[in-house]
Amino acid sequence: MEEKRTEISELGEFGLIDRISQTVEIQHPESVLGIGDDAALIDSGDHYTVLSTDMLLEGIHFDLAYMPLQHLGYKAVAINISDIAAMNAVPKQITVNIGMSNRFSVEAVEAFYAGVRAACENFKADLVGGDTSSSASGFVISVTAIGTVKKEKAIRRSGAQSGDIICVTGDLGAAYLGLQVLEREKQVFLTNPEMQPQLEKYDYIVGRQLRPQARMDIIHELDELGVVPTSMIDISDGLGSELLHLSRASSLGVRIFEDKLPIDKQTYDTGYELGIDATTAALNGGEDYELLFTIRENDLEKLKNHADIHFIGDMQSLKDGNIMVTKGENVVSIKAQGWDHYSR
Ligand code: ADP
Ligand code: MG
Repeated sequence: MEEKRTEISELGEFGLIDRISQTVEIQHPESVLGIGDDAALIDSGDHYTVLSTDMLLEGIHFDLAYMPLQHLGYKAVAINISDIAAMNAVPKQITVNIGMSNRFSVEAVEAFYAGVRAACENFKADLVGGDTSSSASGFVISVTAIGTVKKEKAIRRSGAQSGDIICVTGDLGAAYLGLQVLEREKQVFLTNPEMQPQLEKYDYIVGRQLRPQARMDIIHELDELGVVPTSMIDISDGLGSELLHLSRASSLGVRIFEDKLPIDKQTYDTGYELGIDATTAALNGGEDYELLFTIRENDLEKLKNHADIHFIGDMQSLKDGNIMVTKGENVVSIKAQGWDHYSR
């Protein structure tokens, strides 16, 4: 009898993770929250230890043709800290694993670690270990971040209540359009190496792609304002996909309004130039590394004057679905089109 073979693309990235998660048996009561959130929660007495890990692969997540190594080092750390932030936790330590082909020089590794160091300084995390290997298939980076959070302040994806207000920090879609510009300039350069890339006009969106920031500033400000969100996730795969994670984890529907989405002018202008709708970039682009969270209606007063927190909709009952009210007042359903590497 032939053995059954299922293509990974049939399940997709999230289906595959679900499948792995179903086979896992937790053995320690300290493993309070495992697979399925931005980071794991581990009971450490009076607080939780928060643990998250992420991988960056050359040719999949970055292209060294336009990604300076120093920025890459910074980004590898920042995107992990972003998952720590998404639990309302504070980072403490990181480990960094690298696999390198022999075309790398010591100076290249040093440039990468200059970026790692800058991120460690900025986010107040200590580099405490890692692993080093050669690689046959490009530059491989894996970072693990450890943080801590008081038990009553830990925030999962699952805590939202019907009527809670959906908030998003910063602005969306810029990193995706920054990537499109970098790809375009790379093609121009490959066709004619005399041509120097023209990036001044795109400084903001290119910066968002090359040097994302984990929003630890928001975590500290929420604490100072006395607001504990009811659910939270960071936006790595695009707002649409992350909204669906909140919906699923909280067993609720989401309703957002297109005209409330925070989108920078440079994102709009570049989208117009490239024929990419800015709303589509915000929903499906990814790599924004902003925070998406829900608050009780009562807490709105405390946040409503915050310049960098935007209120984009509310949680509703599951049966009302996951919807976006467009600028033209049409209702469209929200679909996940994030970076699903296996189904692309
Ligand atoms: P994020 O985008 O926040 O980094 P992911 O979508 O990568 O989250 O992961 C979602 C959850 O699945 C996390 O809890 C993560 O630890 C877990 N996960 C992802 N891949 C694996 C794997 N290969 N084995 C076990 N758990 C995994
Ligand atoms: Mg995340």
